Parts: sequence; C-alpha cells; structure tokens
Amino acid sequence: MKPESLMMSYGYKPALSEGAIKCPIFQTSTFVFKNAMEGKKFFEVAYGIRERKKDEELGLIYSRLNNPDLEILENRLCLWDDAEDCAVFESGMSAISTAMMEFMKPGDLLLYSRPVYGGTDHFINHFLKKMNISAVGFLPNESKEDIIARIEETGLAHNLAMIHIETPANPTNALIDISMCAEIKNYFSTDDKEVILSVDNTYMGPIWQHPLKHGADLVLYSATKYIGGHSDVIAGACLGSKELMARVKGLRTFLGNMAGPWTGWLLMRSLETLKVRMDQQAFNAKHVAEFLKNHPKVEMVYYLGEMAENGTQNEKEIINKQYSSYGAMIAFDIKGGEEDAFKFLDSLSLIKLAVSLGGTESLAEHPQTMTHADVDQEAKEQLKITEKLVRLSIGVENYNDLITDIRQALDAV
Ligand SMILES: *Cc1c(COP(=O)(O)O)cnc(C)c1O
Repeated sequence: MKPESLMMSYGYKPALSEGAIKCPIFQTSTFVFKNAMEGKKFFEVAYGIRERKKDEELGLIYSRLNNPDLEILENRLCLWDDAEDCAVFESGMSAISTAMMEFMKPGDLLLYSRPVYGGTDHFINHFLKKMNISAVGFLPNESKEDIIARIEETGLAHNLAMIHIETPANPTNALIDISMCAEIKNYFSTDDKEVILSVDNTYMGPIWQHPLKHGADLVLYSATKYIGGHSDVIAGACLGSKELMARVKGLRTFLGNMAGPWTGWLLMRSLETLKVRMDQQAFNAKHVAEFLKNHPKVEMVYYLGEMAENGTQNEKEIINKQYSSYGAMIAFDIKGGEEDAFKFLDSLSLIKLAVSLGGTESLAEHPQTMTHADVDQEAKEQLKITEKLVRLSIGVENYNDLITDIRQALDAV
C-alpha cells in the first residue's frame, strides 16, 4: 500500500492501549519491567550486546532510548523514503549535527554544497572547524571534474569522510545532481573507508524527492517544515540503512537530543495529512508562479516549473530524474532593490512575513537580510541572493486569495 494509506494505522496496535484508535501520548520517562530477566534482555538488545532474536519484541526501557510515540513515528517516516530505519530528533539542527559528528572525526574533510541552511553553514564553519574538521564547498552547476579537483586541491582528499548537500538549494531552488555526488563519493571511497553522502531533503521531502534512491546514504529533515507542517513544533529526522542508523541512534542516546513523546505525537498527527497538504501546496504554487512570471514588476522567478520549461539542459535532466513535483517554494526578483522588496513584504496581509517554510500558511521573507544574512558577501552575489530577492513558502489557502494578496502588495510598490 502507499504510505498515505498507512499513516493512520501503521505500527500501532490499539489492543495494547485499551482499544484507543489513536496512539496515546506516552508521557512517561521510564517503563516497568515484568521481571528482572526481562530488563536484562531489553538492555542486551538496546546496548548491542547481542542481536535481537527473530520475533523478539523490542522492550521499552527509558524514554531517552525509546518511547512508543517516537518508535511508531519513526516506523511511519521510513515508509515515505523506503528507508530501513529512522531517528527523530528535537530539531532539524540536532539531526544534522548528530549525523555529522557521528561520521566525522578531527582531521577529516567535509565536502558540502553551497548554499546550505544557515544553521548548517554555521555548524560546519564554526563548530566543526574548532574540532579540526575542514570543509570545502561547491556551487550548483559545478561539474563532477571541477568538484573532484577542488577536493584534491585541499591536500586532504584521503581524509574525505562526508559529502553533505541540499537540493533544491534554499533560497533560489538551485539544483544539485544527487547521483553525481554519489559518483564523487565512490571515487573517494576505499576498501577501508566509505565516504557518507547525506542529503538535507527538507525543501522537497518526504514526498517529492527520495535521495536514497539516487545513491545517498542518509536523508536529513527539518521536520519543523513540511512534515510538521503547521508551524507549531520544532523537530528533525535522519533516515538510512539499519547499519548507519544504529550509529546515529547510538550517538543520539548519549547526546540525549531525541524528540519527546509530545513532539512524536504531534508529528504522527501531521503525517496523516502530509500528502494532501503538500499536494495542495504544490498546486497553489503553480498558480502563484504563473502569476508572478507575467507581472511587470517581477524580473525573474526561481521555481522548478520555470526551470523545467526554460532552464538549462542540466537543470531539466535533474528535474526529470529527481523530482515528482515542482514543489511549493518560489523565489523571485522584484524590479528595484531592498526598498521595493521591503515595501512588498510590508504590504502583504494574508501572507505572513516570517522565516521558516512548508507550513499550512503562506510565508514571505527577504533572504539577503534574514535567513541568509550570515552568508559572506561574495558568495551571496554568486548565489543570486541579492537585495531584490523575495522568498515565498506557499501554503494551503485558496490560491486566488494568495494571488490577490500578492497583486495588491506589488501594486503598493
Ligand atoms: C529549517 C531548516 C533546518 C533546521 O531545522 P530546525 O528544525 O530549525 O532545527 C535545516 N535545513 C533546512 C533546509 C531547513 O529549512
């Protein structure tokens, strides 16, 4: 069955919870063992002292290790990406930082696509640097050969441990070919060292892009965005093979940054409507992009549907290969500069002026001075994060109302 058919029931047995149709919130820190032998067995499996036997139920121990709301949520998230295992965190940043810390050590090299989410950029260029982990960035449109040369120029090619990418890249929807990055991963992997390829799939997932199918090892999410989808919870997730996830979950246990039962419950509730929300958001975005494209005060629209029509050959190929939708994120250049962009943002009424994305309500922001304020000036120019750029996250409202709001705000400019 399709994941959307299973989001209401998968992994939950009503009989274990007095017949409740919905999984209750297991707001508990610890779980009572039936007897001491049971406690011993649960710990043996949880700490990897021995493998779980066939048909052996995984026992609940303590909510930093496991909790029903978290485990059922993780099982359900696995369905969308066809992943073997999943770990949910209390934020997207904790999912990203935990994965990076697990798979890199001092002296290692990280390759990452630019731009990446501001928090990720800061973690790479401040915290990891302090840990003596070096990083080299590459831009969308660079060829495999260019990127390999960049890695070799660092003199640390043999220490390449991880490749981390974001596609489409925030805020301009710039595209990166995941399978090309998998080839770079294979080029630098050796018999005793496998380079790990992770993809932050927040912008498109878990419905419209499935990085594991294109050769990624880990998929990362800010579940705050589409997965949570109602702008009321901060959470994150990491998915991949059983083997890699055992390591991620191991570090999560000791950092203690797992999501709590209330967050788990909220996200399960959100997953039931994930597909209908995202379908509607993408449908609305198509109409909004079409309107923007034809408006005289709009200079340029950055949207997958636009690239599919008028983009480069490379962009068209990546869209065909990687995406099942054009998504619901749109950026555009307004004619003029910061003053005009700000006038537009301040004139919106239905669409709210806020950062974040993927929620039921549409949001607008100014990347250059807000989400991407921290990106260095030279990179901003290369990445087209200019003063005239506005970013929109399209929600589930009636698209005619969204267009009416955008039209009157453009009129005010
Ligand atoms: C928001 C976001 C993050 C960070 O997630 P939090 O849940 O805010 O910690 C990471 N990556 C991308 C692409 C994001 O949009």
